[in-house]
Amino acid sequence: MRNYEKHYINGEWVESTGSETEEVINPATEEVIGTISLGTKEDLDKAVQAARDAFPSFSQTTKEERVEMLEKIAAEYENRKQDIIETITDELGSPLEVSENVHFMMGYNHFSQAAESLRKFSFVEEHDGHTRMKESIGVSGLITPWNFPTNQTSTKIASAFAAGSPVILKPAEQTPFAAIILTEIFDKVGVPKGVFNLVNGTGDVIGDGISSHPDIDFVSFTGSGATGEKIMKNASETIKKVALELGGKSPLVVLEDADVEEAAKAAVNHIATNSGQVCSAATRTLIPSSMKEEFEEAVQRVLPEFPVGDPREGNIVGPLVSEKQWNTVQSYIEKGEEEGARLLVGGTGKPEGLEKGYYVKPTVFMDVDNGMTIAQEEIFGPVMCVLTYDSIEEAIEISNDTVYGLAGYVYGKDQEELRRVASSIRAGRVKINDAEADFAAPFGGYKQSGIGREWGDFGIEEYLEVKTVLGY
Ligand code: NAD
Repeated sequence: MRNYEKHYINGEWVESTGSETEEVINPATEEVIGTISLGTKEDLDKAVQAARDAFPSFSQTTKEERVEMLEKIAAEYENRKQDIIETITDELGSPLEVSENVHFMMGYNHFSQAAESLRKFSFVEEHDGHTRMKESIGVSGLITPWNFPTNQTSTKIASAFAAGSPVILKPAEQTPFAAIILTEIFDKVGVPKGVFNLVNGTGDVIGDGISSHPDIDFVSFTGSGATGEKIMKNASETIKKVALELGGKSPLVVLEDADVEEAAKAAVNHIATNSGQVCSAATRTLIPSSMKEEFEEAVQRVLPEFPVGDPREGNIVGPLVSEKQWNTVQSYIEKGEEEGARLLVGGTGKPEGLEKGYYVKPTVFMDVDNGMTIAQEEIFGPVMCVLTYDSIEEAIEISNDTVYGLAGYVYGKDQEELRRVASSIRAGRVKINDAEADFAAPFGGYKQSGIGREWGDFGIEEYLEVKTVLGY
């Protein structure tokens, strides 16, 4: 049992001023694996005060001092590798291999990339007639979701530290333990007191408290659009800057000349990874009409390579994070059938033999119309919508016919066509074929997928103000 009933404020673990706690459930077993304290507004005020007190000295540390701090964090993060992997598997239900290769690695890459980007970052720039100085924005409030317990926390924290901004983190209630390990790492490497503060709690109390707090200068949020909207409204009352990383309904465009088997594998991989609980996942697969039969056969062939089951037993697809998420995904699958999409594989209910745990059958819908609810709304589960197109223009039009714009993917061989589609998709990140991940590249969305960019130097910029000095 992991019982963490303290918050981390001003460099120490302190008792909550409230008495409420919340149980954390392992989604693979449905068993309680620990508890956290639900913080109060008073706890948050103390954390904000600690961060404000830390601001004058932390914001004046040198670039070299902060690079060294980030490198120490990355090294200690690596020392905690096994703990991080097992914790994420227990709280999120992510298969051990995914916890290691995706979750652990993403956190590590953000800390080491932030050190690298900071080393090259210019805080003072001379221009004709004026000097631009980039200075820490002040105290930052970070609110993160459950689907990537180390990725979203680490990218925000690493960028804030690089910029010299003290933070208050409120992680998701469903997956709080990875954030506890991060806190232990910061404590161990000697992050100055008040620079990092952790207050656990609900969105309604601590999340809402952060977005409306008069002494917090910037809020960086990742999560649902509905919460993003509330945060913007709250933040507007104190003219607080916000960065929002929200949902997506990203297209994967398969070109006529693509290898069908490879494209099918890539599409299935998108809904399988993290059980489809990925904001940038491709959930609408667009294929040429002439490829339909071949694609259906290829999907059925590759699906068994992604077994569903116990995340500790070598499976690729684990359970969803919670019963609530399981119910949401079930209702979308029902909706897809009601609206006339054709179920190729999967469907409602639990996979055979997996009655305990929030497991979902990987589900592929064919004959999807882009106007259907399942093609427009973020499902956040292992559900793929396959749509057909008759011309590249139509593929581009369907790709962009969404309120979202987080990511896009294009598969094929003709380089010119690949580039044409990639440049026409209105999204913050487009990937051609199996291009490698790049942690220096900005990440964020167009349209209702959000505001701002994270990762690398763009991430650092979010935590800075620009001052112009004339006659310097
Ligand atoms: P959510 O937006 O409610 O929660 C995300 C974080 O915001 C959590 O830490 C939560 O405590 C906090 N929060 C909740 N209410 C708040 C408020 N009023 N003010 C400030 N903070 C608040 O997301 P959820 O309920 O966990 O998931 C619902 C849906 O959101 C999912 O089905 C999925 O579609 C989407 N989602 C998207 C992402 C993403 O990466 N874009 C991540 C998680 C969830």
